[in-house]
Parts: sequence; C-alpha cells; structure tokens
Amino acid sequence: MSRPPKIPNPLTALRFDNRFTTLLPADPLAENRRRQVRGSCYSRVLPTPVTAPRLVAFSREAAALLDLSETTCRSAIFAQVFAGNLLLPGMDPHAACYGGHQFGNWAGQLGDGRAINLGEVVNQQGEHWTLQLKGAGPTPYSRTADGLAVLRSSLREFLCSEAMFHLGVPTTRALSLILTGEPVERDMFYDGHPREEPGAIVCRLAPSFIRFGNFEILAGRGEISVLQQLADFTIRTGFPHLGEPSPAVYLRWFDEICRTTAELMVHWLRVGFVHGVMNTDNMSIHGLTIDYGPYGWLENYDPTWTPNTTDSAGRRYCYGRQAQIAHWNLAQLANALYPLIGEAEPLEQALRDYTAHFDRGWQDMMAAKLGLVAYEPALDRELVQELLRILPEVETDMTLFFRGLALVPTKASEARTSPEQRIAPLMSAFYRPEQLTPAYLDRLQAWLTNYTERLRRDNLPDAERHQRMHAVNPKYVLRNYLAQLAIDQVEQGDFSLVAELLEVLRHPYNEQPGQERFAEKRPEWARNRPGCSMLSCSS
Ligand code: AMP
Ligand code: MG
Repeated sequence: MSRPPKIPNPLTALRFDNRFTTLLPADPLAENRRRQVRGSCYSRVLPTPVTAPRLVAFSREAAALLDLSETTCRSAIFAQVFAGNLLLPGMDPHAACYGGHQFGNWAGQLGDGRAINLGEVVNQQGEHWTLQLKGAGPTPYSRTADGLAVLRSSLREFLCSEAMFHLGVPTTRALSLILTGEPVERDMFYDGHPREEPGAIVCRLAPSFIRFGNFEILAGRGEISVLQQLADFTIRTGFPHLGEPSPAVYLRWFDEICRTTAELMVHWLRVGFVHGVMNTDNMSIHGLTIDYGPYGWLENYDPTWTPNTTDSAGRRYCYGRQAQIAHWNLAQLANALYPLIGEAEPLEQALRDYTAHFDRGWQDMMAAKLGLVAYEPALDRELVQELLRILPEVETDMTLFFRGLALVPTKASEARTSPEQRIAPLMSAFYRPEQLTPAYLDRLQAWLTNYTERLRRDNLPDAERHQRMHAVNPKYVLRNYLAQLAIDQVEQGDFSLVAELLEVLRHPYNEQPGQERFAEKRPEWARNRPGCSMLSCSS
C-alpha cells in the first residue's frame, strides 16, 4: 500500500520561543473544565478542531511580521493551522487567567474564555509575536459561554485591527480571518431571537496579550508572589529598557503604562474611535487597542455616542468619556500593583501625570487636526472649545468635517472669498441640510473667521497646511455600515468587499481616486440598522 505523499509545510519555518509558558506558573490541572484557576497565570488547553476551515482574508503586513509569504498564507495548511486544526512544532497552546472590572464593578475571574494563545514566534528581526486564536473553542475560563466567535464580530475585529495599524493607532494585529464551516447560535440583542450564524476564527498578534486584569486577579486573590513573577516577567520581556525589576522600576513601569495609555486615548479621539467596552480586562499593558467588540466610529460628532447597546443607558464608555475611563482603569491597575511598591503617593503622582500628559497630548492633537503649527493656550483654548460646541449642534460627520477643513481657503484669495465659498468644502459633512439655519451658519462663519485669522498668524502656505492636516485627519475609516456590508456579503459567500476594504484602509490618509464611495457619510438606510448604529456584546 502506498503512503499518501507528505505535503511540505512552509509554516514549520516559524520559530517559537514561548517565554510566557516557560517562565510563569501553569495551572497544575490539565483538564479543560470550567473552573476557578488559582496560583497560576495560564492553563494549557488545545483548540477545538473545526470541520471546514476556509480563509476569508489575511493581512499581508501582519504576515510579514512572521516572515510569511503570501503564497504560504493562501495555502490549505495555513487555514488548517490558523483555525486550530493543526499544531506546529514548538507551539504550546494556552489560555491566560485574568480578572477585571466590568462597567465599574469587580467581576472576579474572567480569563481567555475563547482565546487560545498558540505561542510566541520569533521573527527574523528577533521580535517576539504572540499568536492567539479567537473563537477556537472552550477553555477553563469560558464560564457559561461556548468559546466560539461568529463571522460578524470576527470580521469587524480583523478589518479594524489592520485599519487602526495603518492609521498609526497602537493596536493588536490580525493575521487571518477564517470561517470554520460550523454554525454558532447567537441571540444578538439578547431579546429571545437566537439565530445560527457562521462561526469564524481570527488569529491575532501582539507583543503580548497581557491586560490590566492579569495583575488584578492575582492581587485580588492575594497571590502576591505570582503577581510579582508576572510583573517581573512583563518588565523583562516587554519593558527591558526600564532595567531589572525593583520597587523603583515597578513605579517607572506604571508611569510608562500611564503615558502609553494617555497617548492611545489621544489617538482614539483623533480618529473618532469608540472602543465600546473599556473594562479593565480589555486594557492592554502595552497601551494597545485590544479586544474589538461593539466598537464604532463616530459618524456625526456626538461625544455622548456609544455603539454598545448594552451601555446605552449609562454611556459609561461613550466617545467623550474614554480618557476619563482610562484614568479610572489605571487607578485599578495601581491598586493591583500597590503590594509590589508599598507606597501610594508615587502611584497617585503617576495618575496625576496621566492627566497632564493626556491634556497636553490632546491639545497638540487638536492643534494638528486644525493645521496649527503649535497649540497656544491663550489663543486656541476658546477656538477649540467653540468648535466642539458647534460640531454637535447639527449632525456633522467628524471625519468629513476635518478633512474638508483643510480645504477652506484662508490666504491670498481671502478678500474675494464669499461665505458660501468658504463653507463649501465642509458641506458634504452635514447629514441634514434642513438643520443649517441662518443662526447656525452665522455661528459657523464666525468661527471660520476666527480660525482663518488664527491660521494667518502661523503664516503657513495653504498647500502646506492642507498636507499637514490630511496627514492626521483620515479620509478612510472603517465606517460602521461598511463593515456591515462586508459581513452581509461574506454571509452570501462573496469575500470581495473584505479584500477591497482591507486594501483601501491600508492608506487611510491618501485621496485614492476611484475609492471615494468608501469615504462617504453614512447612508440613511444605515441610520438605525442593527450592526451599523447599534451593536451588542454578543459576538
Ligand atoms: P469581552 O466582553 O468580549 O471582553 O469578554 C469578557 C469575557 O467573556 C472574557 O473573559 C471573554 O473571554 C469571555 N467571553 C466572551 N465571549 C465568550 C464566548 N463566546 N465563550 C467564552 N468566553 C467568552
Ligand atoms: Mg475582552
């Protein structure tokens, strides 16, 4: 009898160096049963095989981080490996133990309920990238849920991770989006209307997936020696420039987490991103955007907007509160790290520094969005505040408004520019022309007069200002309805819109002639459609 030919597996070139599982304490129980896991950082667990993995899309930039060629990503074996059907030599699959504060309350143990880390790849640059499958089956942390993920949320995570990367926003990455071939039941709005949806798995990449909650669970249980091991591990592997762990180094580390988190908040506000579930288990220790769930992009500028229907009453996680919530979350992390430091005052100082750092970053960011050379408090505080009062007065698309603002004429032709000409580049941003009353238009024109006067002080040529503004105000973002259209098409077996969006979102600041349909404001049909304006935590 002849043996089947051995298919060469190009993925065996991946080199693993699993520091997390080698250096940190493991759950001594090997069984995959839901339970409280004490005294350890993770549990070893295998992905659940799926029947018919099918690649929907992969990110070439994420693949390059692993030195994987596009041919490899298109191979049958790639879909098998990144659906969890086949383990490569060197992989050490595991789920991490973490806790968290959800909506302001301590929730106890959460953990990777449907995420399975495969191991840490070392690439040719010597960088470590942890590979993680999301939706690959239950783990000891699955609590009452199934460990699976559906296409809709997986596609949203895949596209948005890569879109954020190209926008210059710190984020975990997404290598692949794979349909499992198996149905998953979900009741999207928890209202007694379950339906079967296509199951899917995303492979995510990050320097590590360690969250605030990994520390909180250990501190909460009084497992201080494991807490210290995890802190030391995180510093040695992720923050080696801080030096060998000591109480002083723990403080410098916390200070750095405060700074990177502040910078992340500034980025989110700049591009109009609303995370939607800023629980402490969804906060990366590296200041990365992590766990794309019911996130959304601001369409009409409304600081109280949240895409998450679960949060619609309290709006705890709305656009305008994100920086404040990050501060609250950092305070929970400070509490968790306190046993290693033993002094509250320096932690409180770091939290105050967060606020100062965020404020400065936000001002610089707003100045950049407006095309100012620098933020000058005496001149610019009122200019910015008045703009932020004007924007929500009528439904104004944030992305289109700032993009258009770069084109408002300011200089030589000023004397001859009519009010209509001046406002023309902004007109596409307004959702409801009937809201543009004379009183509103007067107020906007008055602001534009102050704005153009302010620009004249800087004396930048219009072309240069235009270029600077277009480098920070994206033209293409993953508008909520665009992701939904892509989901609808993949459900019908058509993957082309995913590919198109992935491509357009690679250059979010470029004009990209021919792709303007992806930069238009939300169409009316999407105003109240589930998935476009309303999302839930169901995923
Ligand atoms: P999230 O709100 O998505 O950040 O999830 C909060 C917690 O619920 C995390 O511990 C997740 O691992 C867990 N979780 C969410 N969905 C599932 C699922 N379908 N199966 C198992 N665990 C889940
Ligand atoms: Mg989460």
